[in-house]
Amino acid sequence: MLSNLKAQPADKILALMAAYREDPRPGKVDLGVGVYKNAGGLTPVMRAVKEAERRILAEQDSKSYVGLAGDPAYSNVMIELILGESVARERIAAVATPGGTGAVRQAFELIKLANPNAKVHVSNPTWPNHVSILKYVGLESVAYRYFDSESRGVDFAGMLEDLGKASEGDVVLLHGCCHNPTGANLNLTQWQQVVDLINEKNLVAMIDIAYQGFGDGLEEDAKAVRLVTSSVANALVAGSCSKNFGIYRERTGILMAISADAETSVVQQNLNYLNRQNFSFPPDHGARVVTTILSDPALRADWAAELEEVRLSMLGLREQLAEELREQSGSDRFGFIAQHRGMFSQIGTTPELVEKMRADSGIYMVSDSRMNIAGLNAQTVPILAKAIVDAGV
Ligand code: PMP
Repeated sequence: MLSNLKAQPADKILALMAAYREDPRPGKVDLGVGVYKNAGGLTPVMRAVKEAERRILAEQDSKSYVGLAGDPAYSNVMIELILGESVARERIAAVATPGGTGAVRQAFELIKLANPNAKVHVSNPTWPNHVSILKYVGLESVAYRYFDSESRGVDFAGMLEDLGKASEGDVVLLHGCCHNPTGANLNLTQWQQVVDLINEKNLVAMIDIAYQGFGDGLEEDAKAVRLVTSSVANALVAGSCSKNFGIYRERTGILMAISADAETSVVQQNLNYLNRQNFSFPPDHGARVVTTILSDPALRADWAAELEEVRLSMLGLREQLAEELREQSGSDRFGFIAQHRGMFSQIGTTPELVEKMRADSGIYMVSDSRMNIAGLNAQTVPILAKAIVDAGV
């Protein structure tokens, strides 16, 4: 039986990581994989996470199962963190999931159960897992224009025009903040226009928010999600704690589904059912860490302060890189790097020039020219700027 299996394509980012490891050049720079790294190149455990884990270790007296939806206390703190007061609690069904990827997967499966004919409209480009999981669960995906390769901002007119062609009941998948891979985001006026279109055409909003706190701040980054959830009839929100709590390997995510009051209990049953079919009980440790932090004012303040340091360090690197490129290229054409938000920027060049930067200068970025800003430090910024200018980007 197993001999029937076909080889799967290698994951581009994992292949890039392997090539980086094998490169003997001392000045090589890794801008590939999407994890936060500090100036020393480390992905540290946050202070509040360490403290929460210490408390859990001391106080936890059972490892028995929790519940199919995870701990309700976790859902409550996450609803408050992401949605704030934007929508009545009675309208929200929620389940803990293995990471944000698990939340995205369960969301697509929920769509499949509710309306297998729905098309899911995704930005071009989007996080590649969106497209591959959609294909795997058997839902059709349709790309809408998003990244403007001239300005490296959002092609908003193109986006609206493409979404205008969506049919009633279709799902519009949006990145809540810090768009991956481009770093280009809508402003709130544009979000309002998208909300109006969703309502006019009876579409369903789905928001993937994996970087809250990495863009303009914890509250700022939640504004778009809250605008949507306060204005539409149905919405799905997939959240991840991997980045903003730095607990990548703990697999901590949440799926929230917003419907009419009267429908919430059936929606909740369906979310529980999907967890049961796929993995039964969701992982607990990371969720417990997050709940411990968010429920304790002092721990929460310490976490928010450390997250803010992380955010500002990335913003500082963006500004330094944009300035360095301005000096080295003698033009303002790279100003978009300081406008982009989150961990990534797509510089908008060809796979050939990305490869040239790797071969000539030891710069590793994904072939679509996405670079992880957190992979830089004050010393490597000028090296990257030189590589970009030398390659003729
Ligand atoms: N959505 C997007 C857009 C992402 O970039 C990521 C992280 N790469 C995720 C979801 C989920 O990440 P995780 O499963 O590690 O929580």
